[in-house]
Amino acid sequence: MLYIHNSFTKQKDLFTPITPGKINMYVCGITVYDYCHIGHARTVLAFDVMYRYLLARGFEVNYVRNITDIDDKIIKRAHENKESVETLVDRFILAMHEDFAALGAQSPSQEPRATQTIPQMIAMITTLIANGYAYVAKNNDVYYHVRKFASYGALSHRKLDDLCVGARVDVNEDKQDPLDFVLWKAAKPGEPSWPSPWGLGRPGWHIECSAMATDILGETLDIHGGGHDLVFPHHENERAQSEGATGKHFVNLWIHTGFVEVDAEKMSKSLGNFFTIRDVLKTFDAQTVRFFLISSHYRSPVNYSQENLQQARACCERLYLALRCRKLSEVELDENNAYVKRFYAAMDDDFNTPEALSVLFDLAREVNIASSLDSSHADELASVLKQLAGTIGLLSLAPEVFFQQTSKPSANLDALSNDAIEQLIADRKAARLAKDFAKADAIRNELLDKGVILEDNATGSCWRRS
Ligand SMILES: [Zn+2]
Repeated sequence: MLYIHNSFTKQKDLFTPITPGKINMYVCGITVYDYCHIGHARTVLAFDVMYRYLLARGFEVNYVRNITDIDDKIIKRAHENKESVETLVDRFILAMHEDFAALGAQSPSQEPRATQTIPQMIAMITTLIANGYAYVAKNNDVYYHVRKFASYGALSHRKLDDLCVGARVDVNEDKQDPLDFVLWKAAKPGEPSWPSPWGLGRPGWHIECSAMATDILGETLDIHGGGHDLVFPHHENERAQSEGATGKHFVNLWIHTGFVEVDAEKMSKSLGNFFTIRDVLKTFDAQTVRFFLISSHYRSPVNYSQENLQQARACCERLYLALRCRKLSEVELDENNAYVKRFYAAMDDDFNTPEALSVLFDLAREVNIASSLDSSHADELASVLKQLAGTIGLLSLAPEVFFQQTSKPSANLDALSNDAIEQLIADRKAARLAKDFAKADAIRNELLDKGVILEDNATGSCWRRS
C-alpha cells in the first residue's frame, strides 16, 4: 500500500496505477540555457529516489523527463552570447547530462525535446481550437481561453476572481481576456520558427509538456511531477490544455518538490548565493549531496549550507563505516526482515526518506555491534544495509572509494590528490623496509595533518580521508 501526497487533493492518496504493475511518470525537465543548480539537483534526485524505489518494489516505470530547448530565455541568452540557439542548447544539454550523471541520477526512460514534438503540439492546439478552448488572435498568436475550462484553478487551489487581480495584457499580446495564456506565438524576426496552420511561429511553454506527455505516455498519467514553483501556472495550464483536448482526466497524482534555500534565504543569482551542481561537486561528493538533499522530506524546504553538507558527509561516513571490512553479498530483500519492513513502511508513506534513513542508521548500529561478536552475521546485516540503501541510491560505492573522495571544504585548499597520497604511502613503506622508522612516522603524521588516516593491515596500508 503506497500512499503519495497529491497536490490536487492536498492529501496522501492511495496510489493505484492505471495498469497494475506499470507506472507512467512524467517530470518537467530543464530549460537548457545555463548550468543546472542545486535546486534542480533537489528535484532530479527526489524523483530519482522515487524512480529507484518504485523499480525496487517491482514496478515497471516509464519515466519521461522532457527538455525545454526553445523559449524566451534560451533565445535571449543565445542572442547575448552571439551564438545560435542550437549551439547554446546542445552545450547545456551536454552539461546537464554530465551533472546529473555525476550526481548519480539514473537516466529517465525517455527524454523528449520540445523542438522534436512540434507536430504533436500543433495537433493539440488544433483540437483545442476545434473544441472551443482556444482562439487565434489578430496577430496570429493562439491563446487558451481560460474561462472556458470550468475547473481552471483546481490544481493550484486558486479562484479565477483572485487570479484576475494583477493579470495584465502586454502591449504585444492580443488576448480576449488577461487570464488567457499563449499556446502558439507568431514568429518575430530573427527568432527560430516552425510552419503551422497559423503561420510561422513557435510553441508556448505549457503546450510542450501536454503534447510530449500525451504523445509518449497517453491521455492519462499515473504521476506528473516537478518543482513546487511549477504548480501555477505551468501545471494548471497543462491540465487545462490536456483535458480540454482529450476530454479525459489528465493526471491521477501530482507530485511537487520543495525549494532549496541557502542559509535560510531564497537562492538567487543577484544575492550571490547561487550554486551550480558542478560547483558543489567540487567540494562534496555525490553521495553526500544525495544524502543531504534526501535527509529532508521531498516536500519540505531544504536549507543549503556548508555546515549541513558537512553533517551529511559525516552521516554518510557512519553508514559506509558499517560496510568497511565486511564481506558483502547480493541478497534478496526479505519483507519479513524487521529493518526491511520498517524501511518499506517509511518509503510507502509518501517517500518518507528521513524516516527511511533512520532505519539505515539503526541497521548500521547493529552491524557494528555484531562485528565484534559474530562476523558472518555482521556480513549478512551489512549486505542487507547495502541493498536497502541502494533502493534510494545510497551506499552505491565501495567503502574505500567513498572514503578516498575529497570531502571537507576546510581541508580542501591543501588537500592531497589521491596520487600524492599513494606516493607518500609508498615512500613510507620504503622507509619502513629500510628500518627508517622516524621517517615512516613523519610521513604518517604528515598525512594525518592533511586529513588522511592510514590503517595498516595484513595486506598493507589502506587509507581514508578523515
Ligand atoms: Zn512541464
